[in-house]
Amino acid sequence: MIKHPQGPFNLINMNNQFITSVNFHVWEPCNMHCKFCFATFQDIKQTILHKGNLPREQALEVVKMLSQYGFEKISFAGGEPTLCPWLPELIELAKDLGMTTMIITNGSNLTDRFLKINHEKLDWIGISIDSLSCESNLKIGRWIFR
Ligand code: SF4
Repeated sequence: MIKHPQGPFNLINMNNQFITSVNFHVWEPCNMHCKFCFATFQDIKQTILHKGNLPREQALEVVKMLSQYGFEKISFAGGEPTLCPWLPELIELAKDLGMTTMIITNGSNLTDRFLKINHEKLDWIGISIDSLSCESNLKIGRWIFR
């Protein structure tokens, strides 16, 4: 492991630069069912993460560790991260530890309530859009089920 100037460890990329950004896939379930989805978590669910997500306490611990390792930006992804009940706590902790915070979402759960709860601690929202055509979205599975 190579020492990071602002943390005990970090990774480097192929150009010998420190990797400062990390994705944390916090929540496997999603309320869409895209036919091309890669985030099935099948490998990890069959081995150590049977529910597809860490319990709240362990997820908070992961955020702390990633901050200690020197990551400067954290993107919470899924599945659909906004379905994770403790996502606001993870975002708040990451922000309070000095990281830039981001979620990667299908956008279906960006309610006024969600934005009100998270707006002070959430820096970026990345929304995945695959088509502006309703017909195409239906064909590829980009529709919500509850
Ligand atoms: S919205 Fe994203 S995570 Fe959800 S099924 Fe589609 S590709 Fe997978």
